[in-house]
Amino acid sequence: MDIFCFLPQPYAPLWHKYTGTLALGACLVAFYIASVSDPGRITAANLAAHIALYPYDELTNRRAQQCWTCLWHRPARSKHCPVCNRCIARFDHHCAWINNCVGLLNLKYFLLFLVANMVLCSYGLVLGCIIMHGVLQERGAWRIMVRERTTGRTFLLGSHPRIMLRWMLQNYPVPVAELIFLGVALLLVVSFFAYHVWLISRATTTYETFKWREVGRRLCAERLAEGVDDHGLEPLQGVRSIWRFWLAFRQSYPQQRPVVLPQNIYDAGVYASWKDALFPPVWAKQRVGVKGRKQS
Ligand SMILES: [Zn+2]
Ligand SMILES: [Zn+2]
Repeated sequence: MDIFCFLPQPYAPLWHKYTGTLALGACLVAFYIASVSDPGRITAANLAAHIALYPYDELTNRRAQQCWTCLWHRPARSKHCPVCNRCIARFDHHCAWINNCVGLLNLKYFLLFLVANMVLCSYGLVLGCIIMHGVLQERGAWRIMVRERTTGRTFLLGSHPRIMLRWMLQNYPVPVAELIFLGVALLLVVSFFAYHVWLISRATTTYETFKWREVGRRLCAERLAEGVDDHGLEPLQGVRSIWRFWLAFRQSYPQQRPVVLPQNIYDAGVYASWKDALFPPVWAKQRVGVKGRKQS
């Protein structure tokens, strides 16, 4: 089956067939690796080593935390994934896209998967734009003059992007819809990748950002509950939930300094964070395939 059946064509030579296959193949390989890789499953055999790996900060990770499914003392930064039913070291999130957890061992493969997707989407988008530009030029679309019905004024179609897009959608609906789809997909993947670059640089995970948010809310509520705080704040009466406390706080005192969160003890600098993400400890690696994912 030829998936690049529209190639070659006047605006895209034959070699795009090979480079396109290469980009798609790289994406599929990265998908496979990210899907079957071990995210850092905690077992009875490596539990002690995982407990020794990260200290407890008593804010986002408490020493007393237990996994009530695996029935053991839960290592700092780990979480029991309810989808895969296993404890994962430095848990980031369970990715429905690759149907696997993202954690200590496979974060780098997940990043590789995102990079491969970015390359594929960018390639498709650029090639699509080149072809579309060639087709429009051949048709002389940039020289088409349009007359406005109400004023009778004439102008170049290409000088009005909104009208040009409408004209293109009327004349080439499928290619234009594909290009819009690729643009949106690229934007989403780039945003997701940038978010993970930011998380790694700050030595935190997606899961821990929720925990830090909880810590922030708790500190804010504690400060308000204490009465007049160090910034001269009056406590708000009749507001019960922490979330409403926070909203009321933000609305009532917009110029007020936000709660300063304590230091993230896992953050030893950008270099150390990336080293930790890309080169996880060798002992944590184990032979766990797709079959080994489910824990009875
Ligand atoms: Zn567990
Ligand atoms: Zn999972």
